Amino acid sequence: MSDDRGLLRYKKALSELQDRIRGKAVREGFYVQWHLTDRCNLRCKHCYYSDAPIKDLPPEQLKGIFDKYLKSILKWKLKGTICLIGGEPILRDDFFELLDYIYTRWKEHPIFSAPFMSNGVRIDEEFISRLEPYSAIVPQIQVSLDGTCEETHGFIRGKGSFEKAKKGLRLLHENGFGTALHFVVSKTNYKDAFDVMKLGDELKVTRVTVSRLVPEGRGCTLEMITSPELKELWTYLSERCIDSYPKGVFLARGRCDLWHLADIPSTLYSLK
Ligand code: SF4
Repeated sequence: MSDDRGLLRYKKALSELQDRIRGKAVREGFYVQWHLTDRCNLRCKHCYYSDAPIKDLPPEQLKGIFDKYLKSILKWKLKGTICLIGGEPILRDDFFELLDYIYTRWKEHPIFSAPFMSNGVRIDEEFISRLEPYSAIVPQIQVSLDGTCEETHGFIRGKGSFEKAKKGLRLLHENGFGTALHFVVSKTNYKDAFDVMKLGDELKVTRVTVSRLVPEGRGCTLEMITSPELKELWTYLSERCIDSYPKGVFLARGRCDLWHLADIPSTLYSLK
């Protein structure tokens, strides 16, 4: 890495760190991931869920839970981000009923957003036309891609899922939604991970997140990358991530402690 890029990275990290220390980041968003269902239409090899889904809560109960969340952020005077996840959250028949309820509450208290995460294979034109009325509360949809080609992605997520997920991301972008690409790296897709930024650029996503495999549930069958491999990948991607900042693509941290190295402000924050 050149000295200039190192300096740029340092300055940006320092400024973000200062913001965090001032508590700005905390005041600007109380982030919650809301697990709406265990059910999924895929059986990814690296999934940390088992094959025994817990029964979904009925919509009325979910609305009650959402009300408690809203009451809390109102009381704490915080802005909120409540991210809808699963399983595959859009598999719920009442997904739009719930989104409609959240939107109604947002019109009364516009202090939160409700992005969601998906495997992308069910995101088609019809889904997007139903989603459009709620664009004010859905700033971003994160779709998982675990390879840069059908061979790798399909091996992990199932045959045919690569093109469907890419199509979903493209359609979302074309219809004005913010998109994010999430990549879980293991030995199986390690080589592809080096091209994840390129894939993100191609699909015009606004965010790229890379995290390491969590060896739980079905994920136990795959092998994690080694520390030297992690270092090699991190070094490559973090340099690329600086280059990509002007385009708004960046690398975020994942679940494993070591991988926090990829999120420079978080790393500095942890060190402090
Ligand atoms: S990783 Fe996500 S998309 Fe894949 S089976 Fe698990 S919940 Fe479904």
